[in-house]
Amino acid sequence: MTIPALMPTYARCEVEPVKGEGAYLIGKDGKRYLDFASGIAVNILGHSHPHLVETIQKQAATLMHVSNLYSVPAQWELAQRLVDLTFADTVFFTNSGVEAFECAAKTALAYQHVSGHPERTRIITFNNAFHGRSIAAISATGSEKLRVPFEPLPDWSDYAPFNDLEATKALITDKTAAIMVEPVQGEGGILPATPEFLQGLRALCDEHDLMLIFDEVQCGVARTGTLFAHEQYGVTPDIMAVAKGIGGGFPLGACLASEKAAVGMTVGTHGSTYGGNPLGMAAGMAVLDVVAEPDFLANVKRLGERLVHAVEQMIPNHDDLFTGIRGKGLMLGLQMTEATRPFVNFARQYGILTVAAGDNVVRLLPPLNIEEPHIEEAVSKLSEAATAYRKAKADGTLPG
Ligand SMILES: *Cc1c(COP(=O)(O)O)cnc(C)c1O
Repeated sequence: MTIPALMPTYARCEVEPVKGEGAYLIGKDGKRYLDFASGIAVNILGHSHPHLVETIQKQAATLMHVSNLYSVPAQWELAQRLVDLTFADTVFFTNSGVEAFECAAKTALAYQHVSGHPERTRIITFNNAFHGRSIAAISATGSEKLRVPFEPLPDWSDYAPFNDLEATKALITDKTAAIMVEPVQGEGGILPATPEFLQGLRALCDEHDLMLIFDEVQCGVARTGTLFAHEQYGVTPDIMAVAKGIGGGFPLGACLASEKAAVGMTVGTHGSTYGGNPLGMAAGMAVLDVVAEPDFLANVKRLGERLVHAVEQMIPNHDDLFTGIRGKGLMLGLQMTEATRPFVNFARQYGILTVAAGDNVVRLLPPLNIEEPHIEEAVSKLSEAATAYRKAKADGTLPG
């Protein structure tokens, strides 16, 4: 056998975290890493948050899983809370982002089907979008590299350049059912939609009776300083996919929809064995207990501004490597003059974890409850790493 026991779909780095404490991950060798990756925007309360841990422990000891054949009161409670906090009238719970995407897409197609337009079966999505790794999700992104080697894939998606309203409009036909977009592209490189773009998509959807779907799996749940990113645009979707941060580290996702949009999602149209299990519901409640507070959200905004400011002060010292920082709240992208993966790898030695993204961007996605000293520490580590990186490159000692 040459294939490893673990299917080799990831290029894993050397870090082996054994414990998490607040904003830090502790490696097997005892080394402490400041975690500005947060499991890719998942651990929004940091690691080992007492309220989240206690809630999960208590629920696990009481009732972990029951089938959706039974009544699960915690689902009603969490759904009602999300309905009260958002545009939505109804919620379906999943275990992951891609499942939230699937439910969102099915909801949109079913809407058209039962509203007298069964011929509307296509969805407009965007270049460099990311919606997950299912067959449907990879066929719904203009990102070529996700699709190879799975072609031919279902042909149900038309791709427009992100933030290009005219090009999007030009793709609408009498077969179009929905437009799906990330208000802030994550994997694509922390690229916020422009207000005119999101507002224009809303207007197009209203005009043509299309479903507007927001994928807030990465940018949602307080990450950008509002509970959901679209709140900052004055635009509401018909359907929204949520996951990552909502479980704070427990696998949880949700598809939220307006009453109108969910008209086709009747008994038997969708389901999930694990989706909405009492343990996940408890985790979701515990996360919302903390993050859905105005003070918490205002603090995310303030911390985001502090981090941007601190990074902007650092950039001129390393303007051969860094060109700028963009994003919203604590969903930030440090733009580089070159491919980012080698720098992200190198910076780990200096005790800081970040994530590479498309378009030469280093993602800074810290837990949302960090404090000012973490910001100073992060920027000084990035700066130290940049100095050493430049030297290693010049000396020809850059690994791999
Ligand atoms: C991560 C992500 C997904 C997929 O989530 P999984 O939990 O990995 O299935 C979907 N959409 C966006 C915007 C994401 O960032």
